[in-house]
Amino acid sequence: QVIYLDGKYVSKEDAKVSVFDHGFLYGDGIFEGIRIYSGNIFKCKEHLDRLYDSAKSIMLEIPLSYAEMQAALIETVRRNELQDGYIRLVVSRGPGDLGLDPRRSPVASVLIIVEQLAIYSEEAYVNGLKTVSVSTRRNVPDALNPKIKSLNYLNNILVKIQANLAGVGEAIMLNSQGYVAEGSSDNIFIIKRGVVYTPPCYCGALEGITRAAIIEICERVGYKVKEEPFTLHDVYVADEVFFTGTAAEVIAVREVDARTIGEGKAGPITTHLLKEFRSIVSVDGEQ
Ligand code: PLP
Repeated sequence: QVIYLDGKYVSKEDAKVSVFDHGFLYGDGIFEGIRIYSGNIFKCKEHLDRLYDSAKSIMLEIPLSYAEMQAALIETVRRNELQDGYIRLVVSRGPGDLGLDPRRSPVASVLIIVEQLAIYSEEAYVNGLKTVSVSTRRNVPDALNPKIKSLNYLNNILVKIQANLAGVGEAIMLNSQGYVAEGSSDNIFIIKRGVVYTPPCYCGALEGITRAAIIEICERVGYKVKEEPFTLHDVYVADEVFFTGTAAEVIAVREVDARTIGEGKAGPITTHLLKEFRSIVSVDGEQ
């Protein structure tokens, strides 16, 4: 495994960052999770756009130009010789002192890790996941806009812990007003009477790149999509429910808080959208 760390390609053993790095001390940084399909970096531009937007929003200067970052991604993938896998790109504020002041961390750290990915079994895509809603809330409006993909993932980790305790792979987080926001690391969609709904980002959802790809597919194949707030009740009585994310792709939900969704397996529209999504991933990449 070859890791890109601040301009060098190093082994996993040599990939070390400072204990004074503010990414570690304060979660001060941003990241992206990106898929490699058939050797191509899927939606590279969208991920880099989101990364540079997140950086601008938190006044973090990325020490690589957009083109240099893209070249570093491509080179790290090439060196790892992986046809299908996952890229974790992290930019932290960099090493500083123990104070909060980012002026003391003049140079951001950049690291790129490429790994194999195993998340859900093929069986789960057909039969769907069981999921639960959790008590952890996404605060909206929040000083930290959910559009920023920051290293502050404690909320999401608390959701994951509650999912683990319930014995499920993903869980549903509501926002402070009680509307459905998203999963721990996935966006959520519901389908009712043929219409596809997903919460708007102001409800506390990350502007997911898979989410955008699914909205685009829906529009292309003729499903009506509405970005509007909805509640857990709407999830319970939906005909179909699914999560989307870079790692999860499009994964059906068969049960929410012990309520069976639809027929208790991946429904026809979810199955159709997964098929369409998988048909674009290997042709829509950056080599
Ligand atoms: N929501 C959160 C909180 C996430 O961390 C992710 C994963 O990146 C997503 C949603 C899904 O976004 P994407 O499709 O861009 O991976």
